[in-house]
Amino acid sequence: MRRFLGFAFSALLLPAFAAGQTPHRMAIRAGRLIDGKSSKPVENALILIEDDKVASVTHGGSAPAGAELLDLTKATVLPGFIDVHTHVLLQGDVTAEEYDEQLLKQSIPYRAILAARNAQIALSHGFTAMRDLETEGAMYADVDVKRAIANGEVPGPRMQVATRAMTPTGMYPLLGYSWELKMPTGVQYVDGVEGARKAVREQAMYGADWIKYYSDRRYHFEADGVLHSMVNFTDEEAKAIVDETHRIGKKVAAHAIGSDGIAAALRAGVDTIEHGDGLTDALMDEMVRRGIYWVPTLTVGLYVAPGRDGNWQKMAELERDNFGKALKKGVKIALGTDAGGFDWTKVNQAKEFEYYVQYGMTPIEAIHTGTSTGAELLGWSDKTGTVEAGKWADLVAVSGDPLKDITELQKVKFVMKGGAIYKNELK
Ligand SMILES: [Zn+2]
Repeated sequence: MRRFLGFAFSALLLPAFAAGQTPHRMAIRAGRLIDGKSSKPVENALILIEDDKVASVTHGGSAPAGAELLDLTKATVLPGFIDVHTHVLLQGDVTAEEYDEQLLKQSIPYRAILAARNAQIALSHGFTAMRDLETEGAMYADVDVKRAIANGEVPGPRMQVATRAMTPTGMYPLLGYSWELKMPTGVQYVDGVEGARKAVREQAMYGADWIKYYSDRRYHFEADGVLHSMVNFTDEEAKAIVDETHRIGKKVAAHAIGSDGIAAALRAGVDTIEHGDGLTDALMDEMVRRGIYWVPTLTVGLYVAPGRDGNWQKMAELERDNFGKALKKGVKIALGTDAGGFDWTKVNQAKEFEYYVQYGMTPIEAIHTGTSTGAELLGWSDKTGTVEAGKWADLVAVSGDPLKDITELQKVKFVMKGGAIYKNELK
């Protein structure tokens, strides 16, 4: 990680983009280009970059005079990856003890320092954009991390953030401590229709790009074989959250694991379903009909299951079956990992691509979930997610062929964000 810091890093991060100057032009010769939307790769592509954007993509051709030439002919170039479910302020919470310790023993400034480190890890793994889905008790520190990255103070992906997330009082940790103690909470407690609208306005005021709420908890299988759950908000409260969020032009992500929680979130009108283990045929059909995204977060499910008692293993098996069904039905699936639910330093987020292929996607379909579909979910289809003229020059490269071996995506050798090179091990 050290290579991103210090003098060399700042020189790379701040190319001369000043108005009026001749644009900085770079021509990348890619042995193979997977552009993020086509069903087949292009061999021998020439990608011309001007300042922070892609100016043109051609098959072969020669680089224009004066352009800096970058030879990636032995590599496969792809769009920068997008993870739409992360927690940069969390360092893994397989057990409740791990979670509580972070909220009780780590200050928010300390957690923000770790978050900056995590953002740097994500970028080095090829993730050039992320939607960070709540700070787990670190208040609005995600807004600061996002700002520091955007200002070029620290390296990291482009971020959309959800700030604090919401549940009704008493339905999210820290719980179980003496009533004499005023404990911190992992979310903002929100009650009643008026409380819901006020909380949305407050989070938006402090910088939330998305509103996230916890639709359910206490996941359990019943005799019908369906994964059920306890729904947190009343329908009136959940609808107020969604209505107020949409009214001010933002979108809502709902944590929803059991079928009851997913159904309640769909009734409320959310835009994305997070986790979604307990999806049923009827719920999937409704998501297809309404174009609602599913963010499966398989990496976290498979990571925490062995360390947790109860249903987690069975839930992971159910999600595997549901993934196959959702794929057949055409549910929009966007890649999300829940990084932070597992330790950023131990698991590469790009593992999620591998699970999608294991669960039935073709490698190209899996790549699209973490590129063009992710961009679509973020409302950034015109900016990123594909390698095309006019979009940000957010690119990664691997030395092998990910269409033959999807785990190549866990070995990213080259990372460019906005035309600046953050990593190049292909030299
Ligand atoms: Zn999460």
